Amino acid sequence: MQLWPSSPLAFSLCLTAGLEAQDWTGMRARMVTTQIERRGVKHPGVLAAMREIPRHLFVPEAVRSSAYEDRPLPIGHGQTISQPYIVGSMTELLDVKPGHKVLEIGTGSGYQAAVLCRLAARVFSIEIVEPLARESYARLQTLGCGNVRVRAGDGYLGWPEEAPFDRIILTAAPPEIPQELIRQLKNGGRLIAPVGRQWQDLVVIDKDAAGKVSERVQYPVVFVPMVPGRK
Ligand code: SAH
Repeated sequence: MQLWPSSPLAFSLCLTAGLEAQDWTGMRARMVTTQIERRGVKHPGVLAAMREIPRHLFVPEAVRSSAYEDRPLPIGHGQTISQPYIVGSMTELLDVKPGHKVLEIGTGSGYQAAVLCRLAARVFSIEIVEPLARESYARLQTLGCGNVRVRAGDGYLGWPEEAPFDRIILTAAPPEIPQELIRQLKNGGRLIAPVGRQWQDLVVIDKDAAGKVSERVQYPVVFVPMVPGRK
């Protein structure tokens, strides 16, 4: 009976593959504990989703080894995947419930949509850079997020055919909240968005049962700008 690979090379390859697989999971567990839980995010569903989703598969190979670091990373086309803490904190703030229909503006890598797909019933995500929309849709399908639809288009227009939404999250910053998106929010719904130009505030908009809108500022953030759609 042979318990170990026969050659030293095969043995070291096995070891590397084994360690690598373990490492991503370990790195991800550490990311959630040190960067997210320790900074105050408590929502069990958000923490569980972030422990499971292979964030390293949402970034280009060249930056893969940094996938679990405490910062945003470039994903091509001049865009970035948000810092893990911001994803965790914003998703907690969004307060998604299992039956919810959620709209995301700025699909990017699809990572935020993957977190949402585990918490909501359905997720609709709009990305203005067509190749990013295509790539992230394919990635989300491969990773089991069959309840996410991605549209290549202008987020300022929202997704009128699917409106109204229980929750809306913007992950690119408009100079002010687009009124069309507030219109597509259900009564009793919540929208969160980074708002501003160079420096932004994370703004939380609540629409009450009667349709009255209230707004509060949560904390300062830095996101890529939401670009106006090409007409
Ligand atoms: N949520 C993403 C990160 C967002 S980066 C993730 O998890 O990876 C912001 C994204 O918003 C970029 O991909 C950018 O192309 C997109 N974007 C910018 N302006 C937009 C617009 N008007 N409509 C839709 N998407 C837009």
